[in-house]
This record gives sequence, structure tokens and C-alpha cells, in this order.
Amino acid sequence: MSDPSSLFGKATEISSGLFYTPVHTPATASYEQVVYFKDEKTGLQTIIAIHDTTFGPSLGGTRMWPYTNLETALDDVLRLSKGMTYKAAISKLKQGGGKAVIIGDSRTEKSKELFWAFGRCVDFLGGQYITAEDVGMDEENMVWVHQETSHVTGLPKHMGGSGDPSPFTALGVYVSMKASMKYVTGKDSLEGKKIAIQGAGHVASYLAKHLQNEGAELYISDIYSKKAENLAVEVGGKIIDPEHLLSLQVDILSPCALGGVINNQTINSLACDFIVGGANNILMEEIHAQQLKDKSILYAPDYVVNAGGVINISNEIGGYNHERAEKQTRGIYQTLMEVFDYAEIHDLTPNLAGNRLVEQRLINAQK
Ligand code: NAD
Repeated sequence: MSDPSSLFGKATEISSGLFYTPVHTPATASYEQVVYFKDEKTGLQTIIAIHDTTFGPSLGGTRMWPYTNLETALDDVLRLSKGMTYKAAISKLKQGGGKAVIIGDSRTEKSKELFWAFGRCVDFLGGQYITAEDVGMDEENMVWVHQETSHVTGLPKHMGGSGDPSPFTALGVYVSMKASMKYVTGKDSLEGKKIAIQGAGHVASYLAKHLQNEGAELYISDIYSKKAENLAVEVGGKIIDPEHLLSLQVDILSPCALGGVINNQTINSLACDFIVGGANNILMEEIHAQQLKDKSILYAPDYVVNAGGVINISNEIGGYNHERAEKQTRGIYQTLMEVFDYAEIHDLTPNLAGNRLVEQRLINAQK
């Protein structure tokens, strides 16, 4: 692990053994606040990035990952926290974008003490960053963090939280498919449409049930064949080998597994009309958005489509309300329509159109 003092600057002890170091590098210049914390007692090392709080305190999950050096952890937290600003702003949430990374292996390095120390770090930022679950974290860990700070979402239902966000994310993906279909064909029915879903995890499972209810023809894949099989049986879909899913001739391709699936290796074999998925960062690079446009494949920007999860947890702040969270998630339909319209008027890809709308909103709000 690199020496933080050579990267970040001078550390200040904020409580016994817990050190705070503001991070100032060229990459952090457009961020409101980036902080590296180190706790001597537990070995906690975490970076919290607050990208933008124009619309409210920053909200975003904590990722626990065995980063091999601080630079990689910093790159990740900067990219993720900026993404959260865009996701919250396009959804018109009164929330900004932030994220935390904990450097460590979530399978072997978790302890109550580590998450208590992390909770003190979140608390030190005075509510400008509100945390939630992300990769490597679970509900129980959030409860431990909550013992040291109130700036936590993603708590269990019995603690006033909203529980698993996946049903909301899936609902957002489902209404996004309908909006995309409506935009191109004038009708938003998915009955009889061929839809290929990559991944048979949490989001995919809830999504598949909505699609089954509407009479779509489903094609399902997962690298764990048992998961694909279970879901396919449950919703009456066909199991597809993961290697062939992306090139299937379907109406809609729905990546609900990993990011970066639309890349130089896969783009030429695509045979779908729409890409609408729950995964984050579906496009490997921005250029792939233009390439999809050139191929007349309508790409619904992932951060618009999969905002149901953050919409849901943002509803925990000030008292959770399930109906309000659901109504706002269904609003993704209209948000996506606005993005498609803006893209058409300005001859942009939907991805760039979404970015442009967010950036204008931020500029207008800062005037
Ligand atoms: P999950 O871990 O429950 O499911 C992902 C599934 O994808 C797993 O079953 C895994 O085996 C499978 N998979 C991995 N690589 C694959 C491949 N190459 N081909 C086929 N299947 C593959 O995760 P999830 O919570 O359902 O999240 C899915 C995606 O949606 C992730 O990218 C996540 O970041 C994103 N997302 C989730 C939420 C949420 O509320 N859960 C919110 C926003 C974004």
C-alpha cells in the first residue's frame, strides 16, 4: 500500500488513533471534499469522496474491496461518487453525490470495531455524506456503522430503514423498458417482446417477474447455471449460455450483472433493438454510446434506468415512505422520455443528453 503522506498531505489525529487527511490531487479538484481516514487500532483505511452537494447532502454506498494501492481506491471512489451526483440529479432527488471505499477484503477483514471506526469517520463529516450499502457490505454492517453515526441509510426495516433496494431498482428497469418501447414504437406494451437478461441475481429476479406478468418472452443467463435455471423455471423463461446471450436476436437486451459489457469485443455481435439494464457502467467507454446510436440500438443510460435503488434509500431520510418511493421510481419512465427527447433535439446520444441535462441543472442551481 502506498504511503499516504506522499500522496495526500498531512494527517491530523481527530480522536485517539483515528487520523484524517484531506486529499488534494489534480483529480480531486472538481470535488467538494475528499478525505482519507486511517484508524490505528482497527487498521481501517477508507476514502470518502463528496463530489457535489448542490441539491443536498451527498448520498452513496460504501464499497469494501481489496484495492492493491491507494491510487486505485482513490480512482474508484472519485468515479463512483461523481456517478452518484448524476444519478441523483437526473432523478431530481434533493441529494448530492458521494461514495466511500474501505480498503480490505470483505470475506476476511470485517469486524464490528472496523465498522464502528468507519461510522466515526462518516460522523466526522457532519452529515455532508450519508452512507449506504454497496459491494462487499451488508445490512448488518450498516447497523454497526449506525451505532456511531446517524448518517446511514440501507438499514433493516425494523430500524426504520427500507431494506433491500433491488425491487425498486428492478421496477425502475421495468418502467424504463416500457418508456424505451413507447419512445420508438408509440406503444409501451412489452407483451410478446423478446427480452434477454444477463444475470439472474437480485435485480434480474424482480425484473423478470414484472416482465413475466406482462407476457414478455424471457431469455435468462447466469455464470452460475443453477441460478439461471431457478429463475427460468420460476418465470417461464429459456436458459441461455452466458457466452451467447449478448448476440441473441431479441427486442431488448438487459444487462443486470456486471459493468463494461458493451465493449469493443461485444459491440459488433449485438442483435437487439434496445439496451435497458440494471447494471452500473454498462458501456465500457463513452464512444460505445455513439456506436450504439450508429447501429440504431436505443441505449437507455444506466444511471437513469437503475436509479430506483437510490430513490428508495433517499426516502429513508426524514422517515421512510414506501408509496412515495414507488411513485418516484415509476417517475423514471418520464425522466427517460425527457432524456430521449433532449437527445433527439440536440442530436446527442442518450448518455450525453442525460449528462448535459444534469450539468445544466447544476449550473442553474448554483447561480
Ligand atoms: P447480484 O449479485 O444479486 O446479481 C448479479 C448476478 O450476475 C449474479 O447472479 C452473478 O452470478 C451474475 N453474473 C456475473 N457475471 C455474469 C455474466 N458474465 N453473465 C451472466 N451472469 C453473470 O447483483 P444485483 O444486486 O442484482 O445487481 C446487479 C447489477 O445491478 C450490478 O451491476 C449492480 O451494481 C447494479 N445495481 C444494483 C442495484 C440494486 O439495487 N441491487 C442498484 C443499482 C445498480
